[in-house]
Amino acid sequence: MNLMLFGAPGAGKGTQAKFLIEKYNIPQISTGDILRAAIADKTDMGMEAKKFMDEGKLVPDSTIIGIIKDRLAESDCKDGFILDGFPRTLPQAESLNELMSDMGISLDRVISLNVPDELIVGRITGRRVCPKCGASLHVEFNPSKEEKVCDYCGGELIIRKDDNAETVKSRLEAYHAQTAPLIDFYTNMNVFTELDGTKDVSEVTKDMIESLS
Ligand code: ADP
Ligand code: AMP
Repeated sequence: MNLMLFGAPGAGKGTQAKFLIEKYNIPQISTGDILRAAIADKTDMGMEAKKFMDEGKLVPDSTIIGIIKDRLAESDCKDGFILDGFPRTLPQAESLNELMSDMGISLDRVISLNVPDELIVGRITGRRVCPKCGASLHVEFNPSKEEKVCDYCGGELIIRKDDNAETVKSRLEAYHAQTAPLIDFYTNMNVFTELDGTKDVSEVTKDMIESLS
């Protein structure tokens, strides 16, 4: 199953991807996570991407497409994958189509988690992430049992550098200007399903699994 989770930053893609990994036993491919790992490793690519990420801007397409090309070629993707946070521009979506066609595969479904901008700000400013296992918790909506400790792996929960009210504004602008046009692109491909992402985490999971069965 080749899936994509679509939606504004903070819509719940990472949160829901964790359930799909378990259900379908396929990997989550988050370009944001890959970029953050490159920053942690201080690679040239990571250092270049960091400038854009810190300002809430999109990283150039050429960098992102290179990342995805390498990642999809890895053996754990052979039975499928969950794209999370990619593609975010039309050129990225077109490159993905070409790449998948060369690999003899296609996208089964794009699931859009719809959440209005007014709710996004609170979700992002309250987000606490675990750099160790990638869990995405929330101080109010999805709190950890123990403060600052990840429920899943015991790692220390942190606030992402770009999760502040200022950067959220530019990230939402980038979403509306550069990513939202993909709604028509995937609707025309007949793979686009919209879900109400404002429901509780478990209800969104239920709707998502139902829409895939
Ligand atoms: P994305 O991967 O789309 O950027 P996340 O999955 O990291 O978004 O979710 C953003 C924040 O919102 C996190 O703090 C997460 O715990 C919280 N969250 C996710 N889904 C919901 C939901 N359905 N209701 C309330 N909060 C949610
Ligand atoms: P995310 O973890 O998905 O919230 O992404 C964090 C940041 O990484 C974004 O604000 C962008 O700067 C960058 N990024 C992640 N994925 C992409 C992508 N597909 N295209 C461009 N920039 C990206």
